[in-house]
This record gives sequence, C-alpha cells and structure tokens, in this order.
Amino acid sequence: MDNGFQERLEGIRRRMDGACARAGRDPASVRLLPVSKTFGPEAIRQAAEAGLDVFGENKVQEALAKIPLCPGRLHWHLIGHLQSNKIRPAVRLFETVHSADSIGLLERLDAACAEEGRRMDVLLQVNVSGESSKHGLRPEEARAAAERANALPNLVLKGLMTIPPALPESEQIRPHFRRLRELRDGLRDALGIPLEELSMGMSHDFETAIEEGATWIRVGSALFGVRTRGEEP
Ligand SMILES: *Cc1c(COP(=O)(O)O)cnc(C)c1O
Repeated sequence: MDNGFQERLEGIRRRMDGACARAGRDPASVRLLPVSKTFGPEAIRQAAEAGLDVFGENKVQEALAKIPLCPGRLHWHLIGHLQSNKIRPAVRLFETVHSADSIGLLERLDAACAEEGRRMDVLLQVNVSGESSKHGLRPEEARAAAERANALPNLVLKGLMTIPPALPESEQIRPHFRRLRELRDGLRDALGIPLEELSMGMSHDFETAIEEGATWIRVGSALFGVRTRGEEP
C-alpha cells in the first residue's frame, strides 16, 4: 500500500485549481488523466479507490495484459503511438485515442471500429516543435487529417494532443502549448466543429499547460511515483 498516493493526488488537484484560478478557468474544464504505464493493477486499484476512473496507457501490449486484472468499471485512453498490427485490440480496450498521428491510422481505426460495432473518440497528435524523434503530425498536416477524421463515420474528432520537447523550464515549454491551442482554434474555425479537447501537460509542466488551455493533463510520475523502467514518451 502506497500511503503517499492520496497526498500526491491532493497536491496535484490543488495545483490544478491554482492554475485554473490564475488563468480564470473553470476547474471543471480540466481533467486529470492518470498515466499508469509501468505500474501494476495494485497501484491502479488504489487510484480507483481514491476516486480516479480514467487511466492513460501508452502501449497496447502492456494494456492487454493489465486491464483484465483491473476493476472493470474503469475507462482507458491510449496516449502512445499505435502500430497498425495493434489496432484491433486497441479498439477493444480503449475508449479514446489521444495519439492518432496519420490519416492511414485514422482510416484503419475507423474500419476496426466498424467491425467492432462502436464509435471512438480521437485526438490528433501534433508535433508542434518539429523534433524529428517525436511521433505526430506536422502542424501543416493537421488540417487534412482533421477533415479526414471528421468525415469518418465511426470516429469522433475531439481535439488535439502534443508532447512538447523536454526543456528544463516550463516557460520554455509554454510557446509549444500555445501553438497547439492556436492550431486548434484555427481548425475549429475552418471546420466548424468544437474540437474542445487539448491534451497537453505532464508531471513537470501541467500548470503551464492549464494556463494555455489544456483540458486533459496526462500525469504519471507526479502521481504514481518514479518509474523504474525507462518509458519516455
Ligand atoms: C509517460 C507519459 C506521460 C506522463 O509522463 P510523466 O512525466 O510521468 O507525467 C504523458 N504523456 C505521454 C504520452 C506519456 O507517454
């Protein structure tokens, strides 16, 4: 039993509320996505007992093994790159995909959803910094992908996601969050759909992300503790 969990959760909630107050935002407009990757069913059960019911995982393989061992009422979001050969299990396991990063993937997700008889919420992952090591659409590719996602019958395009460069100061990261929000605003106007979700901000920068408009913050280590297995996004 990890006695620090409740305390860490409360600390994160306080910081979320503080960031909302600074930005003049309604705290209900920002949701915490606990990132449980590398942590086992026991840690997740404890988080569920603390009231959390949506979790983020970055690998389909890990989720396949873990989710059946977790309480059945939980909801799961995929936040990592989805390989073509894992699409079918991903559609069975995850409610939402934050990391849709190509038109081909959107089309294959839509087809798998049709076969499974369901609809799926998706966010487009955009590589706003242009780092070559990162997955994600280039900003100039986002419009075509958003139009395609919007046209696919089994996908519901909810917004955008980004993983900014790992810079030491949150003020250095702020422009990347701002760029994602501006990109979303432009797409929303161009396509005439709400695109209300901005999935951005992790353990070290979620307050800045909230100040810039995040609606989902993806928090792993600040909540569950340091990961022993290297799992950088
Ligand atoms: C691991 C991961 C996170 C959480 O990272 P922390 O720094 O532990 O909060 C967020 N987003 C993605 C895509 C990740 O892979």
